[in-house]
Amino acid sequence: MNSKRLIAAGRWAGSALALAAIVVIYYRWLHVNPTTVALSCLLLVLFLAAKFGLRYAVATSIAAAFCYNYYFLPPIGTLTISDPENWLAVFAFLATAFVGSRLSEHARDDARNARHRQREVEALFALSRELLQTDNPAQLLNTSAAVVERSTGARGVLLYLLDGDRIYRSGDSHFDKEDLTTMRQLALTLPSAELQADDESHIPLRAGVRPRGLLMLHGAALSLESLEAAGGLISISIDRVHALEEVTRGEAAKESERLRTLMIDSITHELRTPLTAIKASATTLLSASELSAEDTHDLLQVIDEESDRLNHLVSQAVEMAQLDTQEVHMTFHSVDIATLAQETIAICALALEKHTVQSTFPPSLPSVSCDPVYLQKVLANLLENAAKYSADGSPIFLSAERNAVGVAISVADRGVGIDPEEQSLIFDRFYRAAPRNGRVSGTGMGLAISRAIVDAHHGSITVTSQPGHGCVFTVSLPIVQ
Ligand code: ADP
Repeated sequence: MNSKRLIAAGRWAGSALALAAIVVIYYRWLHVNPTTVALSCLLLVLFLAAKFGLRYAVATSIAAAFCYNYYFLPPIGTLTISDPENWLAVFAFLATAFVGSRLSEHARDDARNARHRQREVEALFALSRELLQTDNPAQLLNTSAAVVERSTGARGVLLYLLDGDRIYRSGDSHFDKEDLTTMRQLALTLPSAELQADDESHIPLRAGVRPRGLLMLHGAALSLESLEAAGGLISISIDRVHALEEVTRGEAAKESERLRTLMIDSITHELRTPLTAIKASATTLLSASELSAEDTHDLLQVIDEESDRLNHLVSQAVEMAQLDTQEVHMTFHSVDIATLAQETIAICALALEKHTVQSTFPPSLPSVSCDPVYLQKVLANLLENAAKYSADGSPIFLSAERNAVGVAISVADRGVGIDPEEQSLIFDRFYRAAPRNGRVSGTGMGLAISRAIVDAHHGSITVTSQPGHGCVFTVSLPIVQ
């Protein structure tokens, strides 16, 4: 016997037992008047209508009318009725039982429908919420079959898109043998959602009025309207992610164009200064007939220094572009920061010649995981900036300490400092803070390159500064596990 039949049998038995209990109690023990018996039976009938449905209530009310007549209406123990008033009582009982049962069943159906509608609305809400969670078209399509399965309670889901004949499945194997031609045919011709005999539903997907695909569900207990709505939600979310992708692509193209223009502007501007100096020195050397050896040496030195500057500029631009496109290959080693820092100070000796560098490294400092060549570039940039943006003779402090996540390396100076509102901007490409003590040459690319390098190390670079009193730049890097 299947479970539905078992439940029905239980209900029939329960109804009969309840009626028998009322009859036995009133007939044997509680000798009450027939009206009380009729009302008790009526109560049972209404209860059965509300709980189990109309057929249980009707059958019980007929049985109750017979019992009422047999056990409680004179002549007792027969199915005849002597007093015509009692006929009226039996009919009134039956009529009240039928009408009441219908009303109770109506109320029961309404409550069931309301619960069903609520479940459908909840399912659609869950579906829309999950579909909104991704902004990536590929991810949306890969997950939407599973999302539909989860939120509608379907056992199996197939999503078919006409564009590229793409199929996405989730759940049971019900749709495994579905053939492409049928799906394409259904997607192109189905006017609205349809329920099939074998617990299957087909929902056409549209982009505006154009057919887009088909959603097939197996075992989803949703009404046709909700299925249509589910199909609409999927179509809208596909449109939404495509639109978002377009916008992002457009914005990325604009941003890349803006950066290219900025790069060209900045490089042209910064290239012009050394080129002008080189050109002027070369012209003087060529045209002036009587130049002292000292002047000639000075002019050649200008050419030498300015071509170095040009070289530096161009390599910074190339490096930034490579870091941007992730073309840089880094090799990570376990590196002792104290040693690396001392080497960097030695390399930057020329830039630091007008300053004293005080370095403090605790002996117990753990090694960090980094590409030493690139980390040296970061430290060199911070040391050169400290020297560039502070007065000659002022000290520079280089230190490192263990912190919660790894090792924090700090470069501090007593220079011009950076305004609070500019502190987050200086790591952007080409951003140069407003000059304080006269113009200092630079490209605005050093810190952007440093940040890209530190990011590639899964570290962070920050600045704290009090304008007029100097800055502290801190690079945090993970230690070697
Ligand atoms: P550049 O020094 O070539 O301009 P950077 O990217 O290295 O480029 O620095 C960006 C800006 O941050 C600088 O123009 C400067 O305004 C500011 N800055 C960087 N380091 C310091 C520092 N130690 N003290 C004051 N300002 C600094």
